[in-house]
Amino acid sequence: MPRVVVVGGSLGGLTAALVLADVGCDVVVLERSSAALEARGAGIAVLDETVRWFAERTPTEPDELCSPTGTIRFVDADGSTVHEREHRYRFSSWNTVHRALLACFPAERYLLGREVVDLRQDADGVDVTLRSGERRRADLVVCADGIGSASRAALLPEVAPAYAGYVAWRGTVPEAELSAPTFAALRDALTYQVLPDSHVLVYPIPGPSGSLVPGERLMNLVWYRNVAAGAAFDELMTDRQGRARPVSVPPGELPAAVAERFRADVRAHLAPVIAEVGTAIAEPFLQAVFDIEVPRMAHGRICLVGDAAFAVRPHAAAGTAKAAADAWELGGQLAAHRGELGPALREWEARQLALGRALLRRNREIGDASQKHGTFRPGDPALLFGLRGPGR
Ligand SMILES: Cc1cc2nc3c(=O)[nH]c(=O)nc-3n(C[C@H](O)[C@H](O)[C@H](O)COP(=O)(O)OP(=O)(O)OC[C@H]3O[C@@H](n4cnc5c(N)ncnc54)[C@H](O)[C@@H]3O)c2cc1C
Repeated sequence: MPRVVVVGGSLGGLTAALVLADVGCDVVVLERSSAALEARGAGIAVLDETVRWFAERTPTEPDELCSPTGTIRFVDADGSTVHEREHRYRFSSWNTVHRALLACFPAERYLLGREVVDLRQDADGVDVTLRSGERRRADLVVCADGIGSASRAALLPEVAPAYAGYVAWRGTVPEAELSAPTFAALRDALTYQVLPDSHVLVYPIPGPSGSLVPGERLMNLVWYRNVAAGAAFDELMTDRQGRARPVSVPPGELPAAVAERFRADVRAHLAPVIAEVGTAIAEPFLQAVFDIEVPRMAHGRICLVGDAAFAVRPHAAAGTAKAAADAWELGGQLAAHRGELGPALREWEARQLALGRALLRRNREIGDASQKHGTFRPGDPALLFGLRGPGR
């Protein structure tokens, strides 16, 4: 089995490392961040593939990492329910899932503060060069370096991220800070509000240390709002130090006046229960929404997985599931072809290109229905989260 270097140690990279080590590869993960990646507190809706590692390879049940909800509810600006159905979802946080995956992987093979700056391949392997000048040799390099992937930019310079025309305002609030009626209204639901050319959703996620006990968790908000490309976008994506942020302005980095304007907009436009969450977010943050589509995922001995390949809009809540699916399929094909890279990567690429393209298309349709066409309808079954289609 090949010696593998995984570039990027987020959910996609770590899942790839675990799955590939499990089929017998010798794996090391190189992660650019020098601190443990604990600070990324954002909520994620969790599909089966994201937590497949736990379901199939550990005694940890996926439900131990997720806070469940039993209802999907759409509310109007005045707070009245316009649609409601029973539907079970699982929500977690990036931190909770990452911490649990990391605990399954040998610490000495997960290396922080290792930024990969160059990949050179020849017939026998790949030379991986780090910012420090250190070099490593691998038979296979799995690039899980995310939406801003430098590996993608080097391999496919013609692929440019396409800004979708809107951003996600995000943030969390401890449930304990919510009023009793708001907590009661939100605690077991994914709650949506549809606005003109926009929608917002709120759902409970585990607490900072992973608690799933209602009342000890966090309430997570995501509000999609249109921002024109150009000056308006550039101004919004400038942090409090005046630095331009191409993809996201993290918690604590928004200028105070921008955060205050966000709270004023929340008060003006959102239903009372959702507005209570939005106004209480201490450190709102921003992520711009992009479409990225690659024509190839396998490049000799180097492959792109997760957001480094296709970065899709978040509406199917399937980004981490797709990254994990890329990893599981890679492990499966390497095992099926006894580590022979050529046929394994060919078969893998054909399947994952098809998955990425279909998911990109579905998310684009949902996003455009909401942000452009006014056709995003409360209760539309096409909106159900899913990696391979609504609810699947
Ligand atoms: C608003 C919004 C909401 C979302 N909601 C959901 C949801 O509900 N459910 C869901 O499943 N997904 C959701 N997603 C998508 C999800 O966040 C991504 O799909 C997922 O994080 C991709 O994982 P990844 O491992 O491919 O990349 P990333 O998580 O971006 O990780 C890339 C890693 O690579 C490292 N890195 C980068 N460059 C280098 C380098 N040169 N050398 C070494 N390391 C490097 C980075 O530090 C980082 O740790 C959402 C996204 C957005 C924007």
